[in-house]
Amino acid sequence: MTVDAVSRGGASAAPPPGSPDGAGTGPDTDAQARRLAYLTVCVPAAGFVAALLWSFRYGFTLVDGLLLGGMYLVTALGVEGGLHRFFSHRAFSARPAVTALWGVAGSMAAQGPIVFWVATHRIHHAFTDTDRDPHSPKPIGGGRLARLRGLWHGHAGWLFTVRRGNWSKHVPDLLGDRTVMRINELYFGWVLLGLAIPAALGGLLTWSVSGAVGGLLWGGLARIFLLDQVTWGVNSIGHTLGSRPHRTRDNSRNVAALAPLSVGGSWHNNHHARPSLAHNRHTFWQLDVTGAFISLLEALRLVSHVRRPRQGSRAEPRS
Ligand SMILES: [Zn+2]
Ligand SMILES: [Zn+2]
Repeated sequence: MTVDAVSRGGASAAPPPGSPDGAGTGPDTDAQARRLAYLTVCVPAAGFVAALLWSFRYGFTLVDGLLLGGMYLVTALGVEGGLHRFFSHRAFSARPAVTALWGVAGSMAAQGPIVFWVATHRIHHAFTDTDRDPHSPKPIGGGRLARLRGLWHGHAGWLFTVRRGNWSKHVPDLLGDRTVMRINELYFGWVLLGLAIPAALGGLLTWSVSGAVGGLLWGGLARIFLLDQVTWGVNSIGHTLGSRPHRTRDNSRNVAALAPLSVGGSWHNNHHARPSLAHNRHTFWQLDVTGAFISLLEALRLVSHVRRPRQGSRAEPRS
């Protein structure tokens, strides 16, 4: 299979079930990929509704809020610092123990196993906003709904149609890393851990079953749902609306309003202009929590070889 197999709208032929191509990189068949998409999109959405109904009946406690905020921060950094800047772009280096922590924190966000996330993201950079981009929000079809259909595809719809292509071609570094592959195999265990931690903390902090349920719903499922919308919002809104200080070949945008919740990921035009850098902040006022956190880890000598722009360097030629 070629990368053409990863396409918009599900127009390409499916790979043969059980194909050895890219073994171990993600779901083995399209049916498995679709099941994973339903789990990824629908379960947190149902959990978010359940959390709202629960709080309507029993209230929203301080512990609920702390668990939501704390778990959100850990997993948002896991996605933007771990899955994105570290695993996808190799913007800095880390020892195996720190690599494992990035992998676990990112996996607890429940946006798919590491190799799936990184492979589709690298394909996004290689073919940004072309028909080969897995999640470009370009308008689909004609009529008034074309733009909305494109936005939905770029946001979460692509998860249901993305084909298992030659992913191994895009992630040779991950396939050769035993730590990463072990974390990848244990993906569902990390997702469950991300639900169990807030449930256990909620129960212990309040010494009540309702505290555990509140922790599970707000620190677990609702937290996954909310972070999903922000991460996927960078893919959909971040290629549709916002400023373009860099003239990249794609349609990437900086979405300032999403910067705090995306922990700096929404400076997306900055990122497409300089994808290999560890920091997304190109102007002093641009809030980039992930970049600040990477600098903190560097000062603590927990990460190294942090990629920064060279003096006087210009935007990288590829998107
Ligand atoms: Zn992008
Ligand atoms: Zn990227």
